[in-house]
Amino acid sequence: MIPYGRQNINQADMDAVLEVLRSDFLTQGPLVPAFEDAVAVYCGAKHAVAANSATSALHIACLALGLGKGDIAWTSPITFVASANCVQYCGAMIDFVDIDPNTYNMSVDYLAEKLVDAEKAGILPKVVIPVHLCGQPCEMAQIHSLSLQYGFKIIEDASHALGGRYKGKPIGNGLYSDITVFSFHPVKIITTGEGGIAVTNNASLAEKMSMLRSHGITYDNASMQQQEPEEIWNYQQIDLGFNYRMSDIHAALGLSQMQRLDTFVAQRHTIASKYNLMLSGLPVVIPFQHRNGYSSFHLYVICLKLNAINKTHRQVFETLHLAGIGINVHYIPVHMQPYYQKFGFKRGDFPVAEDYFSKAISLPIFPDLTYKQQDIVIGTLNRIFD
Ligand SMILES: *Cc1c(COP(=O)(O)O)cnc(C)c1O
Repeated sequence: MIPYGRQNINQADMDAVLEVLRSDFLTQGPLVPAFEDAVAVYCGAKHAVAANSATSALHIACLALGLGKGDIAWTSPITFVASANCVQYCGAMIDFVDIDPNTYNMSVDYLAEKLVDAEKAGILPKVVIPVHLCGQPCEMAQIHSLSLQYGFKIIEDASHALGGRYKGKPIGNGLYSDITVFSFHPVKIITTGEGGIAVTNNASLAEKMSMLRSHGITYDNASMQQQEPEEIWNYQQIDLGFNYRMSDIHAALGLSQMQRLDTFVAQRHTIASKYNLMLSGLPVVIPFQHRNGYSSFHLYVICLKLNAINKTHRQVFETLHLAGIGINVHYIPVHMQPYYQKFGFKRGDFPVAEDYFSKAISLPIFPDLTYKQQDIVIGTLNRIFD
């Protein structure tokens, strides 16, 4: 089976992990801060807080921005469930903004319309979570100016988008948002096994997140209460946090992978260009690329022109699977998940997202995908549409 995504691990990665295993610190050693620095420097952000997953990072990002009971947050319906779940963890309410039919990202037009209505109804969101689907950045400048007008905070779910750029600058630089989160799950751009990171330019948000990542404990005298002067060994729990820490074993892998980040993204672009070329005659829509963005191409999504073919989405999907191609659909709209239907969301609520879902297929794309494997994918698609 050709998977839709797969990690690339080399000898340097393995050596880096082994070195940690032989060292004094498996966790809470020097490699997590070193990895955080590497990601922050790459993105051009001031601070980075690593966590054991992007889901954890999204959770502490929401908490750091003060999201809680009675608050509302909005995200895209076309995302992994974690972008919405992080809001539920905080006891806040999630709602969705339909997608742009070209980029499949949260639509700025729908966002603007929904904000007008929400303001009238007195139910403005506290946080908006745009998701850079497939690695293509959302239209952050517009979302940012809406945030100034309506007073919401922004968390970029950039789980797909490490190594991508917006208006020529790295995603994660914080010019248009409060916090940006990346994932290091093995199918993502670089991996730590499991892992995620939150980057920000705001020192107090960074401090809050690093405290929440480790039980709500601070070692910083300035943050402590009723400090006895002689208690220099002191630490205090000043909030209810979690154990969301990344280990040094994971960070070593991440730090080693960072050295190949740009190569990985370039390899993904080469694969995408070949698909663009070879699929151009077929009844599929190839990924639209906004001129403001440079995608990391975490995913290569085609949309079937269902009116131009005599097969269903399901038939195409099944034929590819039978040919040994591990294609996927990213994603089932979150509002259609049984868990979210309990909150009153239903089919028809976000028609553009639902239409996308009815025709989208993610083709294999990852650095080690061979020309031969890609030819099998392209050949199978040609046979299906023959
Ligand atoms: C992968 C992913 C996450 C969650 O990442 P983990 O590191 O697996 O927790 C969140 N949002 C999106 C859009 C993702 O693709």
